[in-house]
Amino acid sequence: MSVTATLRQCHRLRKHLKALQEEIDRGPRVLKAQQARLAAEEQAHADHHEAVKRLKLKQRDDEGTLKQTEARLAKLEQQLQGISVPKEYKAKESEIEQARAKRAELEDAILATMGEVEERTAAVPAVDRKWGDAMAEFAQYEVDAAARFERMKADQIDTQAALVKAEADIPAKNRPTYDHLVKGHGPDAFAAVKDRVCQGCRTGLTQQKVIELSGGAFSQCPSCGKMLYPAAE
Ligand SMILES: [Zn+2]
Repeated sequence: MSVTATLRQCHRLRKHLKALQEEIDRGPRVLKAQQARLAAEEQAHADHHEAVKRLKLKQRDDEGTLKQTEARLAKLEQQLQGISVPKEYKAKESEIEQARAKRAELEDAILATMGEVEERTAAVPAVDRKWGDAMAEFAQYEVDAAARFERMKADQIDTQAALVKAEADIPAKNRPTYDHLVKGHGPDAFAAVKDRVCQGCRTGLTQQKVIELSGGAFSQCPSCGKMLYPAAE
């Protein structure tokens, strides 16, 4: 195999290794985002049920207060019958007025709460389903992510082995340059040449350089220093 063919292969393998590593590194961030989404769904689900419970409690409290208010009102109305002093009569009347206003207020509140409880209770199946879906989705994500991770790890090992094998074909005299460049630039140490143009820096190459390359020799771009190979047809 010519040196340029080897460089082409090494470039491909190193690009693939870099992409693999980036995806592996992204894994924990993706997991964190998925966990945050699940937690938000869990909270929304719990909040909904908590709201229903709270509304029902308020309903019960208001109903209790209404009963007390009604009993008090009945007592006040009875007391009114026995009063003959006008000033006292007026005071009692005012008391009755206040109790009636409170009764009306409670009745309104109870009706409003009832409507809200009904509405939220009707939404419970949908809310439960949404939470169930979120849990199932997360479980599926975990299974998929684990499988993907295994695949990438295996791919990484295979690609690494293929790279070592390919790099063994780099001539010994070029090896120090090669090692120095890939150490500093990774996959960016290589560039294909297409239509006499270095694809790394877009500089046009001399005719002599192109001939050198097509002969399969080890060669670097005079402009950007990347190791060159002719682009595959
Ligand atoms: Zn270049």
